[in-house]
Amino acid sequence: MTWNDAFDTVCVGSGAGGITAAIATAAYGGRPLVLEKGPRLGGVTAYSGGQIWFPATRLAAALGIVDSLADASLYLEHLGSGYSQPAARDAYLNGSVAAEAFLSDLGVELEVIRGLPDYFYPHAPGSAAEGRYLEPAPFASRRLGAWLHRLDVSPHGLHVLRSADREGQTEDQVRRRREERIAAGELCSGTGLMAWLLEAAVTRAVDFRTDHRVVELVRDGQRVVGVVVDTPLGVQRIQARRGVVLATGGYDWNPEMVRTYEHLADLGSMAPPTIEGDHLTMAGALGAAIESFPSWSSPVNMGFLADGISRRSMNSMGRCANPKTGRHGWCSTKTSSIPTRDSSNRTSTRWRPTVTSRGARREPTT
Ligand SMILES: Cc1cc2nc3c(=O)[nH]c(=O)nc-3n(C[C@H](O)[C@H](O)[C@H](O)COP(=O)(O)OP(=O)(O)OC[C@H]3O[C@@H](n4cnc5c(N)ncnc54)[C@H](O)[C@@H]3O)c2cc1C
Repeated sequence: MTWNDAFDTVCVGSGAGGITAAIATAAYGGRPLVLEKGPRLGGVTAYSGGQIWFPATRLAAALGIVDSLADASLYLEHLGSGYSQPAARDAYLNGSVAAEAFLSDLGVELEVIRGLPDYFYPHAPGSAAEGRYLEPAPFASRRLGAWLHRLDVSPHGLHVLRSADREGQTEDQVRRRREERIAAGELCSGTGLMAWLLEAAVTRAVDFRTDHRVVELVRDGQRVVGVVVDTPLGVQRIQARRGVVLATGGYDWNPEMVRTYEHLADLGSMAPPTIEGDHLTMAGALGAAIESFPSWSSPVNMGFLADGISRRSMNSMGRCANPKTGRHGWCSTKTSSIPTRDSSNRTSTRWRPTVTSRGARREPTT
């Protein structure tokens, strides 16, 4: 078999998953490559709120917050509604403690978001009042030098706001904080997280290639040994001596998958258009299959707002704070209410909440 290039680990996708895997490879002495289909680095992560759910970390403990993995496991079990797998749950929980320690040791500054409870606190068993959500400390953008221009920023404005700047704040307060962050050249939230990770990766000489779309996994017997990549210079085959990490995000812009897995007829997402479920397509071609999951598998889901929530108090992810109580709730957006590829749709839908005992059903008013 002939290869155009060879690395230890080939990480497909440049969001937090792909870059962290590449950093870990480099930290343990391997030679990683990150392949990114889009023109810039960062993936959905760079667009996101950057709130990381890591329970029972040493960061929380240092603040005197009492938590345990057993409680967090109970909470996940409840959220899973009978669909969760104990092995996967344990892997996540133990891995998150290790990941926080690993990233902090690399110099990625994470902080506990004070006062932010679990989405279902206090109603779900094992839920916590605070301590489980971390976010990156503001990142001084000048530290990235020329790499700054290779990093994507959130088109949703999250990159200049920390959680405390936006959760439960008035529009005026948010605007002021945004202006201060811009003046200080600070990157926050998901973009800030990716800036920290990119700095850690660049320091460890991780190799990045943008506009490189992985189209196929190459198998030798039972092992995946490389990838086929569509590049601006034509198709290349890249060997992965130790493995391929598929970190291509979700499938927001794949109509067939959205219809099949979410039971939604229309498309809409705040993710970049490169998020098309390529991992499922490529791994599926080798016989991989998806474990069954409920149609509404995400804790942030469709069509309902918590009691007393107005659209103005909702952040861009659909997380919301009750203006009367200051408590956070959860909700999400029916797909037609969130930005679509067609910019004419962006402002065309308004929502009028109708309060019910559990939440408010949103109806489009235009
Ligand atoms: C507005 C918004 C806010 C959010 N806020 C939060 C939050 O606060 N907390 C939270 O936990 N989650 C949040 N999320 C969800 C979270 O951002 C994602 O779950 C997470 O970033 C996924 O990370 P990832 O590394 O798996 O993939 P991504 O960050 O999605 O990166 C995947 C990358 O793979 C690339 N790619 C895809 N296919 C290929 C291919 N074939 N070849 C090469 N590259 C490819 C894509 O272009 C992309 O850059 C939010 C999402 C949105 C949209």
